[in-house]
Amino acid sequence: MKVGIIGCGQLARMLALAGLPWGLRFSFLALPGEDASPVEGLGTLVTMSEGDSADALYLAMGKPDVLTPEREQLPLSLLRALHRLEPMHPSPDAVAICQHRKREKAFLNGLGLATAPWQSVDAKMDWQQLGNQLGWPLFIKSCEEGYDGKNQWRLKLGDTESPQLQSGQEYLAEGGVAFERELSLIAVRSSFGRMAFYPLTENHHHQGILRCSLAPAANLPRGMQQQAQQMAAKVMEAMGYVGVLTLELFQLEGKLVINELAPRVHNSGHWTQSGSATCQFENHLRAITDRPLASTQAHSHSAMVNLLGVQPPRPELCPDAKVHWYNKALRAGRKQGHLNLSGNDSSAVHGQAQKLVETLYS
Ligand code: ATP
Ligand code: MG
Ligand code: MG
Repeated sequence: MKVGIIGCGQLARMLALAGLPWGLRFSFLALPGEDASPVEGLGTLVTMSEGDSADALYLAMGKPDVLTPEREQLPLSLLRALHRLEPMHPSPDAVAICQHRKREKAFLNGLGLATAPWQSVDAKMDWQQLGNQLGWPLFIKSCEEGYDGKNQWRLKLGDTESPQLQSGQEYLAEGGVAFERELSLIAVRSSFGRMAFYPLTENHHHQGILRCSLAPAANLPRGMQQQAQQMAAKVMEAMGYVGVLTLELFQLEGKLVINELAPRVHNSGHWTQSGSATCQFENHLRAITDRPLASTQAHSHSAMVNLLGVQPPRPELCPDAKVHWYNKALRAGRKQGHLNLSGNDSSAVHGQAQKLVETLYS
């Protein structure tokens, strides 16, 4: 069976690495200008040029049995044209919701799910008044093309500078959520409608980029895992979703607020490669190839540390860490790889992760 992945980044790489052992074959579609080094040697690579038809691309990819988008920021017209030729999971409709912040928030609120208070904005806004209304700090985010905190601004009470919004782009503003911590839920739904959920993960960001995840999240208020699962189930059922879906969450006074959705495997789920019965990549592949899902149970305590613009530390410094390197040229701030740690003693694992973060980034 052949899986066609649209996109060539580290998520495509790790999907392939999870599926090759059970005989799946892969082809990858690189968008114009995309760096395909993470998937080198893992299957057929097709590089798209402007004007290529969906039929030609699908043929060049070796007519995969199923297609899967690697990330949400892909041209919808391309996804829809390819979807006409072959099943695609998650569907272009699901991706369409998640690739546009306003659409996503309206969808979530329509299901009765909590998000930060938000409003559409344009360059003529009175930011101080809006911040007083929605809550400080005020986050202004472009509706599309935003990831790792790019294309967003954080305004404080009394800031006199206005964000430089580009004409022709849509933006929204969100009130700051005074969260206790950030969590995420990796959920998966099979093509038979069965669902499974990994334990909630605790996430630590630095300047809008995920740096470290701890799993399973410790000291969860009673019922919070179930609350998160019910939220994800509602979203996946409403979308008729197949595959892995991630909820990025804020924990606030015993409740969960959804920050955003990711219609894909997620950086905060990389710990599942070492710390759970079945990793997120395998379960995504199981879902999209009509196989039953496998156990999402955590078998130990885990930590994941991102390698952002840095090489892995010397092996003597982290003998127990599993290194995942994405085969990308080194660039400041870029996601180059990650380290997974796991063990039976959560404070030992967290301590090791903390030390690694200090070694890498101070
Ligand atoms: P990615 O897709 O890579 O996760 P992104 O560019 O879509 O990132 P967000 O997830 O919207 O960005 O924001 C990045 C981080 O900024 C969040 O994880 C959180 O730490 C902080 N943040 C964003 N919005 C809010 C908010 N309304 N209140 C408090 N913190 C926020
Ligand atoms: Mg995002
Ligand atoms: Mg985010």
